[in-house]
Amino acid sequence: MRLAYGPAEERFRAELGAWLDAHAPPAELLASPKRSSADLPEWARAWQRALFDAGWLVPGWPPELGGRNAGPVEQMIYFEELSRRGLPRSLNPQGLGIVAPSLRDYGTPEQQERFLLPTLRAEIAWCIGMSEPGAGSDLASLRTSARLEGDHFVVNGQKVWTSGAHHADWCLCFVRTDPTAPKHRGISALIIDMRSPGVEARPFPELSDPDFCDFNEVFLTDVRVPADRLLGPLHGGWPITRGSLAHERAMLWIEYAASLDRAVQGLLAIAAEPDGRGGRLGDDPRFRDRVASFAIDAQALRCLGYQGFAKFTAGKAAPEHSLLKLFGSEAVQQATAFGTEALGPAGLDLDRPGPRLWREGCWAIQYLRSFGGTIPGGTSEIQRNIIAERVIGLPR
Ligand SMILES: Cc1cc2nc3c(=O)[nH]c(=O)nc-3n(C[C@H](O)[C@H](O)[C@H](O)COP(=O)(O)OP(=O)(O)OC[C@H]3O[C@@H](n4cnc5c(N)ncnc54)[C@H](O)[C@@H]3O)c2cc1C
Repeated sequence: MRLAYGPAEERFRAELGAWLDAHAPPAELLASPKRSSADLPEWARAWQRALFDAGWLVPGWPPELGGRNAGPVEQMIYFEELSRRGLPRSLNPQGLGIVAPSLRDYGTPEQQERFLLPTLRAEIAWCIGMSEPGAGSDLASLRTSARLEGDHFVVNGQKVWTSGAHHADWCLCFVRTDPTAPKHRGISALIIDMRSPGVEARPFPELSDPDFCDFNEVFLTDVRVPADRLLGPLHGGWPITRGSLAHERAMLWIEYAASLDRAVQGLLAIAAEPDGRGGRLGDDPRFRDRVASFAIDAQALRCLGYQGFAKFTAGKAAPEHSLLKLFGSEAVQQATAFGTEALGPAGLDLDRPGPRLWREGCWAIQYLRSFGGTIPGGTSEIQRNIIAERVIGLPR
């Protein structure tokens, strides 16, 4: 079987490729997008604005929202090209990927006018306040409370792992507004101004790169939020927790396949390294076997991805989503662990570049970062539960 696109799709790819060649930010900026500063870098804002103005930010949306009404296959080509080039659309992915579609689906006309275009045009940055010290995989048990007092909510509680909170202007924050209701039915979504009195974001460094802070703890103490900053219905915030573009979720595997390709290229590059016994790493059939197996995984991931995508666009249930998230994120993790082990102590050398997955770093750092794929959006264990129950039909 030969998988290929038709001429119209290839024209779309060529047009996009030519535009990216002319406008993409230089590789050195992308390789190390330091985000520990209090603000998003100006080049990243300019890049997102350029994508918006050219209709390449959210291709499936209409031109006034930074798109070009592209069909599903064109959107898949779009993500393939971005991943192949290692280009992020935004350094505020939570704003673009989660908040913007939520505003479009649930926002009042006033909220859309106030927030949607500025989010798409990178004029404002967002964080997402979901996880708490006692609520991660079981998000519905969140306890941060919001009490309605006149025309304001008063919010108290703590969030954790809040990506980008230290440079966010706004937080889409999930709070408990009805403590007496069953846990999924007492949650609301509030738009909180991060500069409000009582909001404190404390960034903390990552094990994988002490210079790079993305995570925060966010403390909320008697924070007053105007009642018209409620997104969606009161106590009806649960569906918004799933609020990223369904089409885009069906294409997340493309990023894993591209990372796995890059890891395989990195393994091929180290095959010529000395093995410490007078030969080369690639002389060992076990090394070659593993590299071949990762290359096959990348192909299998693509085939499974296309299959899930075809079902999704035909409006059929596509359990592949959980399989792809689990398989893709874990294959990248196994490949980076293998590269680290194969190199021995050199794999731990911080000055020795490994494959560039989405930022530069040595093999061991890429392995540590791979947990950024296996934890958020449902951990590997949670994906296994979903597959067991909904795909294989095992009891809970
Ligand atoms: C890169 C990254 C970015 C993130 N960004 C954000 C953000 O911007 N905003 C935000 O709110 N959160 C964010 N998170 C947090 C993320 O959503 C949580 O880490 C995730 O939901 C898991 O929750 P937890 O860390 O509390 O782990 P827990 O849910 O406490 O899980 C601990 C362990 O128990 C396992 N486990 C839990 N429940 C089950 C079960 N039912 N069956 C089997 N095993 C189980 C898990 O798999 C895990 O191994 C981010 C996380 C990462 C890694």
